[in-house]
Amino acid sequence: MIPAAPIWSEFQTPEYPRLPGGTLRTDVAVIGGGLAGLSAAYHLLGRLPGARVVVLEALRIGAGASGRMTGLLGPGVGQSLPALVRRHGPARARALYVATLRAVEDVCRLVAREGIDCEFEMTGQLVVARSPAGRTRVAALAALIRALDLPAEVLDDEALDRTIRLAPCTRRSARGPAAVRLPVAGTLHPTRLLAGLAKCVTVRGGAIFEDARVTGIDDNRPVRLEIAGGGEIIANEVVVATGAYTPSLGMLRGRILPVHLQVIATQPLESRAREALGWKGREGVLDAKRVFNYFRLTSDDRIVFGGGAPRYRWDGCTDEDRSSATALDRLAKELGRTFPTEVLVRVAGGWTGVIGYVRDALPAIQRMHRKPSVLHVLGWCGHGLALSVASGAWVTHLLCDGAAMEDLPWYRNNPPLIPFEPVRWLAVQSTVRMMSLLDRIA
Ligand SMILES: Cc1cc2nc3c(=O)[nH]c(=O)nc-3n(C[C@H](O)[C@H](O)[C@H](O)COP(=O)(O)OP(=O)(O)OC[C@H]3O[C@@H](n4cnc5c(N)ncnc54)[C@H](O)[C@@H]3O)c2cc1C
Repeated sequence: MIPAAPIWSEFQTPEYPRLPGGTLRTDVAVIGGGLAGLSAAYHLLGRLPGARVVVLEALRIGAGASGRMTGLLGPGVGQSLPALVRRHGPARARALYVATLRAVEDVCRLVAREGIDCEFEMTGQLVVARSPAGRTRVAALAALIRALDLPAEVLDDEALDRTIRLAPCTRRSARGPAAVRLPVAGTLHPTRLLAGLAKCVTVRGGAIFEDARVTGIDDNRPVRLEIAGGGEIIANEVVVATGAYTPSLGMLRGRILPVHLQVIATQPLESRAREALGWKGREGVLDAKRVFNYFRLTSDDRIVFGGGAPRYRWDGCTDEDRSSATALDRLAKELGRTFPTEVLVRVAGGWTGVIGYVRDALPAIQRMHRKPSVLHVLGWCGHGLALSVASGAWVTHLLCDGAAMEDLPWYRNNPPLIPFEPVRWLAVQSTVRMMSLLDRIA
């Protein structure tokens, strides 16, 4: 399958102007017109009415991961809750998870407050076991959620079957729960959210420029940003919200790994197929594999299905290559294995996108050591919908109050380094292959 544009781009975001050229002075320049950048501008303008805030987007608003995602809004950070507890201990892991629950609620409040029409549905999210090892992982998740007093409901096979009909697993086990339902979660239309947020930025007095690629950030105060094709921005503060593309700005090289993901969308389901699946609650669904799949329904009853093996390209290249088509074909087979064969699910197309992955799967939000007027906000590692939108408030606090809102380990500027190629390439390839192999045998 050849990668195409995301289905979300059927809804067009308005066009924003190009930079006028010459020198433009501003209080804050936000680099990156994804959800993190727009949210930073929106919150800064709320806190500092009248401030000069500009968003600089290299291509179009939502050209990065934000406009290419699956649109599952859910809690969580790091590889998993059990991994978070192993790494940080129960108290800190709980604090991190609670912050992500609040992030989901922040998105709900923002959408309601600003009246953003983004097909938002508070559906909850299912984490389903699709193998004996998946059962063990769901059981561990359920036990931890109980121990940490976090919101969730445990489902046995019958309860899951009443909620959604999936294909029977090839390797069955009756031990352990079939799924966990996370109530604080939903789904939405990413491009409609981007458009709504961008409009709020301009209503609050901010300026958005498209086709404004930053090619250099100097060390001075105020900071000078060089723009491709000529022109410069002089800014008192700079927020770098460029996700996977950040290393190409010479920042966080080897600490942010651009990882390619893929998504397919089906034709709208016919009413018989829709009925056969149950799925009345329209929950977002994640399977509990190591290399996992995740899927949801759209407002016109398409299944949007993401997952399969994440791909890293040599030296962190962010362009697509031939492996994208193969990855989409594999994902279509996964989709076929996930839903019952008697339910007609026809693939309409697929697309890919790039996220900024961090070795320990935690974000990195902080002022830079050597450039204190420059702050980066990135590294969502697959949890970006809730975290990137919520991060605008966290960035605003850091910039305006000089300190983080709370003591959490994602306020840092030195996420772990994977030093150089070929180590980086080999590390990612071998980890993904090992995890896929373990999924196949356990
Ligand atoms: C296929 C896929 C599916 C996903 N599904 C989900 C999901 O269901 N739920 C979820 O929570 N998360 C999901 N994610 C992750 C989520 O999309 C991201 O974490 C989130 O959108 C990141 O937002 P961002 O603003 O930080 O980065 P981005 O959206 O990548 O924005 C960065 C922007 O910076 C711009 N830029 C880059 N370099 C420059 C420069 N030099 N000058 C100016 N601008 C520049 C880019 O063009 C881009 O628009 C998914 C990601 C992908 C790829």
